[in-house]
Amino acid sequence: MPRVHDTQLACWGRHPVEAVRALRPEKWGDLARAVTDPDLPTVLARGLGRSYGDAALNRDAGLVLTERLGRVLSFDPDTGRLRAEAGCSLGELIDRFLPRGFFPPVVPGTRFVTLGGAVAGDVHGKNHHAAGSFASYVHRIELLDAQGQPRWVSREDDPDAFHATTGGMGLTGVIRQVELDLAPVPSAWIDQHTERARNLDHALELFESTFDAFTYSVAWIDCLSGGDKLGRSVLLGGEHAQPDQLAAKHRARPHEAPRERSRSVPIDFPSFALNSMSVRAFNAAYYARAKPGRTVIDQRRFFHPLDGVLHWNRIYGKPGFQQYQTVLPFDADGNRKGATAALREILTRLAKSQRASFLAVLKRFGDEGEGLLSFPKPGWTLTLDLPQRDGLDKLLRELDAITIDAGGRRYLAKDASLTREDFERMEGERLETFKAVRTRLDPGGRFSSSLARRLGLVP
Ligand SMILES: Cc1cc2nc3c(=O)[nH]c(=O)nc-3n(C[C@H](O)[C@H](O)[C@H](O)COP(=O)(O)OP(=O)(O)OC[C@H]3O[C@@H](n4cnc5c(N)ncnc54)[C@H](O)[C@@H]3O)c2cc1C
Repeated sequence: MPRVHDTQLACWGRHPVEAVRALRPEKWGDLARAVTDPDLPTVLARGLGRSYGDAALNRDAGLVLTERLGRVLSFDPDTGRLRAEAGCSLGELIDRFLPRGFFPPVVPGTRFVTLGGAVAGDVHGKNHHAAGSFASYVHRIELLDAQGQPRWVSREDDPDAFHATTGGMGLTGVIRQVELDLAPVPSAWIDQHTERARNLDHALELFESTFDAFTYSVAWIDCLSGGDKLGRSVLLGGEHAQPDQLAAKHRARPHEAPRERSRSVPIDFPSFALNSMSVRAFNAAYYARAKPGRTVIDQRRFFHPLDGVLHWNRIYGKPGFQQYQTVLPFDADGNRKGATAALREILTRLAKSQRASFLAVLKRFGDEGEGLLSFPKPGWTLTLDLPQRDGLDKLLRELDAITIDAGGRRYLAKDASLTREDFERMEGERLETFKAVRTRLDPGGRFSSSLARRLGLVP
């Protein structure tokens, strides 16, 4: 039986911090024993804790840490099909399979994410408008039920169980293995296009005229600029570079990129260090340094620039921060007017609040996936990092009201503040469908989380 450690844990936002009963199984037998341990009132799987709020916390109950169960079990180089334990990280897959010409078809903004976390969050990347979310590339999921019994689920044999598990935030069972397709890529490099936008109108115009056509696209917005500079941003577009686009010294081995050493934030910054002056200076420097044009950079710098600074969440000090991610949907006929008005309202509210937020991220989402609780749907998605200070929850309530009016919703993998009532307004009917499938899969309510109890996802 794996030992239970009573400890305090948080996720990436470092808020909230909760008492949990953690277990770290190293064998499949121990994983099943952890799931069924009678001393634990409920259990939840946790990957690398890169969700921001309380999705990977289970206050005063069992938290099964999966990172020691991360073996790659099979790979077919003809098709790219891979089977691995859920604790395997996307970073490990990149290190191992990129030299062989394969890359995960969807990568979020950090490589420190497990397969289990990627499935349970149905994560998206800079290519969502072109490629959809992570679950689109998953064939089968092996799920442990409340009795610790494994069962493979797929779209074909139990679509409800499959779609409740992708994006289901760990509430349908513990994922033990995932089978998915990696994508062949021509190199380990990205052909990156950079453009500066004077304000929001200019940024949205650039998305429509140019950046929507890239496989990968994203805009970094300076949230402290208001007035006629509201929405001032840097847009990045990217394509996998062809070998003949690389510097001569890299052409012979196009799938090998230089390894950079990560730096680290060694201490918690005092909370006063991050004020609107320091963030304003950072944002202005970022905008000024972004040179419009085209350049070939290695995939790490394009996909995971923040991973180059380990523990960057310490710059928010001990109180931590909340990441707020919302999607503001386009009309059914693709009209962007309502979504754009809501986006402008949120940015105006934020600029007025003068709450120091580093660059916010704006992206266009493509089609909605099949996950019963998956986050993306066609529209603008905006992500903000906000220090945990007095009055933050009031501001987030206001942003939630704008999101609800626009027919949008929040990303559960980032959430620490949504109220149950607002969540129900955002999710509508599909919430009942999810709950019904969840109850069928886990009638005794063995799987739970702090987020699930806060939002009424579990009885
Ligand atoms: C810097 C940074 C950038 C990010 N960028 C993006 C982005 O661009 N797009 C995006 O979509 N997300 C993004 N994220 C969020 C992150 O991708 C998700 O929160 C992801 O789920 C984290 O994976 P994890 O392994 O750390 O899971 P955890 O945070 O540990 O857990 C997340 C959820 O998955 C469940 N879970 C984990 N493992 C299992 C398992 N084996 N079985 C069942 N359930 C499980 C947990 O119960 C929990 O509900 C980012 C996070 C960071 C820190």
